[in-house]
Amino acid sequence: MCGIVGYVGKRSASEVIIKGLHRLEYRGYDSAGIATLNDELNVVKVKGKVGVLGELVRKKKVKGNPGIGHTRWATHGEPNDINAHPHTGAFRRFALVHNGIIENYDVLRQDLEKKGHKFEGDTDTEVLAHLIEEIHELSDIDFFQAVQQALLQVEGTYGIAIIHKYHPDQIIAARKGAPLLIGIGDNEHFVASDASPIIEYTQKVVYLEDEEMAVITSSGYEVSTLKNVPLTKEVHELAMNLEQIEKGGFPHFMLKEISEQSDTIADCMRGRLIVGENRIQLGGLDGVLDRLINARRVIIAACGTSWHAGLVGEYLFEYLAHIPVEVEYASEFRYHEQLIDERDVLIVISQSGETADTLAALRKAKKRGAMVLGICNVVGSTIARETDAGVFTHAGPEIGVASTKAFTAQVTVLTMMALLMGRENGMISDDRMQELTRELNEIPKKVKDILKDTSHIQEIASLFTYAPNFLYLGRSYNFPVALEGALKLKEISYIHAEGYPAAEMKHGPIALIDEHMPVVVIAATDHTNDKMISNVEEVKARKGRIIAISSNGQSKVARLAEFNINIPEVHDCLTPLVAVIPLQLLSYFIAVNRKCNVDQPRNLAKSVTVE
Ligand code: GLU
Repeated sequence: MCGIVGYVGKRSASEVIIKGLHRLEYRGYDSAGIATLNDELNVVKVKGKVGVLGELVRKKKVKGNPGIGHTRWATHGEPNDINAHPHTGAFRRFALVHNGIIENYDVLRQDLEKKGHKFEGDTDTEVLAHLIEEIHELSDIDFFQAVQQALLQVEGTYGIAIIHKYHPDQIIAARKGAPLLIGIGDNEHFVASDASPIIEYTQKVVYLEDEEMAVITSSGYEVSTLKNVPLTKEVHELAMNLEQIEKGGFPHFMLKEISEQSDTIADCMRGRLIVGENRIQLGGLDGVLDRLINARRVIIAACGTSWHAGLVGEYLFEYLAHIPVEVEYASEFRYHEQLIDERDVLIVISQSGETADTLAALRKAKKRGAMVLGICNVVGSTIARETDAGVFTHAGPEIGVASTKAFTAQVTVLTMMALLMGRENGMISDDRMQELTRELNEIPKKVKDILKDTSHIQEIASLFTYAPNFLYLGRSYNFPVALEGALKLKEISYIHAEGYPAAEMKHGPIALIDEHMPVVVIAATDHTNDKMISNVEEVKARKGRIIAISSNGQSKVARLAEFNINIPEVHDCLTPLVAVIPLQLLSYFIAVNRKCNVDQPRNLAKSVTVE
């Protein structure tokens, strides 16, 4: 959450920063701000989107270098001009932007107030700015040390960037629990929450780790620990390009990302699904497969859409490899008493690789000796770096806040893992493997077929644009797909929606069904087919408005439903990969009809880096 970008070098800092903030806007968009240095410290910040800030910065002709910028996702204090970052101390000698939460801000604030500090707003970040100022003003230590000392008093998480009036040509950065990287250019350097704002200038980056600080100048950077131990950092080459983070002619990133899925699923399988040789090759699991297969317990921990992918993973691992799996919300896993130890394996799933709760789950399991595997999209992300091994989804940058192509790529990885494990432990015969790998290989083409003509889904969307509630039902592999369909609709159209295992409907939600209730049923041809048809009948008997997602050949469901969206027939265990596509589109079209901000839905942000 929240995007940070800073620049020091020969270009116009405000231009680089405003452009960078636009690229980071998916991380937070309730307010934004910028600070630059010439003779003065210039701070401009405002409630609203980066576009509003950009206008102001142009009008005020903000000049100066270096500069830092921030797009906020409020945790403490409502989104308004005052609470927007950057924050300065009372003397306005420095400006600070922050991603994360200062958990002990209340105690620190009370203490500072007793010492005479006056606060303008309500953020935890302003408290950190005053704390730095207090330490610096009262002692003869230099500014860098004052920042260091303040951070040692802080509980919680931070990624920060600071510029100081008396230290021109310098940005101080530090991180604990919130991502931050340094971009290395030719006589220019950048600092950013992720690579998107700097990719057009450089491919070379250094990732800061927790409790590391950096002094960044136009000619170089120095990294040390919070306790002043100098560090030599590895320089990484970014594996993304500018085109991938632009809309490419689509009205929204979300539609672009939905439409890319035939390619992203294929990319995810490239070099890994070797149909001719009837095998799966996942280099990221070399050397750890035995431990995974023989683990006492396999637990999958994730949040949001990744958690839904994890649930599909549970069905896949159990069905294909006969390996029992538990799926946990990472936010719960990290706090309840887990009997996890070195005999167990935790698999964490996160698109960004920065999800705070997932990262905490990872660290907890590692501390207890368990092996931790990661399924991430962002190469170089914290989770990818801290896991023992793992598999990248290779879906390319996902900018739309509502996750789409990351989900299908995660499910593709989990399918390949299940096949690999099932093969390794003898649960999948040659013939079955052949059938499954061939079918999996066909998925990108089948996804493309669904995406070819979406007009029918668009028509259904216009009929239900103003429905206040939706119910989504699925069984087996498609129960998590029902959850995911409901989540997509909630996220971007603000319609209340619930996903349920179809049979559970009778234990409560059936009471909601009347002639106004749209009920989306995912009724692909699978082993639960007959049961699903009975559930559809039950909805119909109560006059629910049935929108079926059914495979070719499911004529019975198609006949029963008021609306039917056809998906290609695939093997049972692969249905989530095709069934989710119409659900993504349905929510997208409904949200567009409702004039919602599809890529930046209210209250949400991509990459949840706070608890
Ligand atoms: N906790 C800070 C605030 O509420 C930073 C939030 C963020 O990461 O955007 O302002």
